[in-house]
Amino acid sequence: MSYIVEERPEGCVLCKITAAGEDRRNGILHRGRKAFVLLNAYPYNNGHLMVAPYSHVDCISRLDREEIFELMELTGKSVERLRRAFHPQGFNVGMNIGEVAGAGIADHVHVHVVPRWLGDTNFMTSVAETRVIPQMIEDTFAALAPLFLEMK
Ligand SMILES: [Zn+2]
Repeated sequence: MSYIVEERPEGCVLCKITAAGEDRRNGILHRGRKAFVLLNAYPYNNGHLMVAPYSHVDCISRLDREEIFELMELTGKSVERLRRAFHPQGFNVGMNIGEVAGAGIADHVHVHVVPRWLGDTNFMTSVAETRVIPQMIEDTFAALAPLFLEMK
């Protein structure tokens, strides 16, 4: 009789990243008291950021007031800094809660901040074809890091 032992999940990417102590390598642009900002390693568009609380919870409803406040405050500041760095014409800001809703990291709630430009909808396919993501992410980090450094 075969018996499948369920493997332990590898652990939460966001928790790992905050504990790693390699902020630049992991694309962390800003650490606040209750939340932090990082580049998405699998961007929907150039400049795609994520804002997440340090708390490992799967829904915004499980955050306390201070966490919610800082999550939204950093989201606003991220929008502003992306505007200054890349001059997008619009943004998509939102959360995917639960895997069926498209959450890649379903256990640890986070806000996506995606800058938008007119006619950018081909980004995903073009990026998938050319595989320029690593270089692009480094460039994006370099452009944004100084703007987040001055952030209090
Ligand atoms: Zn986590």
